Amino acid sequence: MSATVGIPPAITEETEAFWAAAKEGRLLVERCTACGAESFPPRGMCRACRGRETEQVEITETGRVYSFTVNHQRWLPDLEVPYAVALVEFDAHPGVRVTGRLRIDDLDAITIGMPVEIGFEPGPGECAIPSFTARRLAERADSEAIA
Ligand SMILES: [Zn+2]
Repeated sequence: MSATVGIPPAITEETEAFWAAAKEGRLLVERCTACGAESFPPRGMCRACRGRETEQVEITETGRVYSFTVNHQRWLPDLEVPYAVALVEFDAHPGVRVTGRLRIDDLDAITIGMPVEIGFEPGPGECAIPSFTARRLAERADSEAIA
């Protein structure tokens, strides 16, 4: 299930730090130094106050599925289907939602609010792109087996 097919992202002055951190497996978002609002994707300007002084903040916590789609259309010849794309939010980073593949064996098991771990995988153009994995799937399977 490679995600390397597709169009490589345009790396700009505003997104350069994000893509460099992504290659190290770190997820960065922008925080406004004036009002503290966090934004993603990075654009060098605060979404709340339009301030242009921003700093990079790393997200390390578990995320939650805000929304998702399961895609069956093979948009590119080498694209393996079906696959899931999730929009993920983070409790400590309000206003930030990150899109990525959700890697899970059972696509029917995806639910809104499901906890997911941040990961990265090889993307087009040798970049690393965000992807997510379901958290504690094995533990849940164990508790269901007991019940
Ligand atoms: Zn601001």
